[in-house]
Amino acid sequence: MTRTALIIGASRGLGLGLAKEFHAQGWELTATVRNPAHADELRALPGVIVETLDITDPASREALAGRLAGRRFDLLYINAGISGPGHHQPAQATRDELGELFLTNAVAPIQTAEQLLPLVDPQTGVIVFMSSVMGSVELGPGMGMPLYGASKAALNHLARNFARGLEGTPLTVLLMHPGWVKTNMGGAEAPLDVQTSCRGLVDQVSQASGGGVRFVDWQGQTLPL
Ligand code: NDP
Repeated sequence: MTRTALIIGASRGLGLGLAKEFHAQGWELTATVRNPAHADELRALPGVIVETLDITDPASREALAGRLAGRRFDLLYINAGISGPGHHQPAQATRDELGELFLTNAVAPIQTAEQLLPLVDPQTGVIVFMSSVMGSVELGPGMGMPLYGASKAALNHLARNFARGLEGTPLTVLLMHPGWVKTNMGGAEAPLDVQTSCRGLVDQVSQASGGGVRFVDWQGQTLPL
């Protein structure tokens, strides 16, 4: 049977790579972007439905949930994220920079998942939050980008809390680290290309079942929270 996915943040980078890989593997896709005028590569994938969403905007989330009401997805993949201020230093960060970073990377993904949960198949559903090894409290400190790491640690915390609310249901929650990948965020010196990372991520997601919450990388290795 054809599986269905809703990918959040698919205009470029890993989100676009995920859309291409799920599409290549026969999934039926709906994918969101902030600006539909910058979604040519996504639109070029036959059959993909492109929707608009800014995850930090409550009205935008509500409008999307309304447009998709009645649809059923086997997978909700929340990929959208930002790297935060270029200086990466807590001491220099302004209120606005901190607000944008922690809202986009930690709180808005959970708000999006809560809003879209009724669309996820209650028997087979998998919900993925794109995290990072930098968000591991054990491994992240010392890896650089401390503010970004803290925002992903907050995401991990909130996602585990979200998953608690699903305990006793068959729904599975994954926190995923894609590796260090060549994208706008990852930079040109990153060792992994988008396709390699996304093939690994899609393999892991395709095998996910059984409920609960796990923090895993693109190769299926469990990471410490
Ligand atoms: P990019 O900067 O290339 O892409 C980020 C994506 O997130 C874009 O599609 C962007 O949309 C979208 N986005 C940002 N803010 C919002 C928002 N408010 N609402 C909706 N969409 C938004 O980054 P990557 O592809 O590298 O990163 C994707 C995810 O993977 C992120 O969560 C990142 O933290 C994570 N990650 C990446 C790693 C890497 O090495 N690249 C390593 C570990 C984790 P738009 O085009 O509109 O800006």
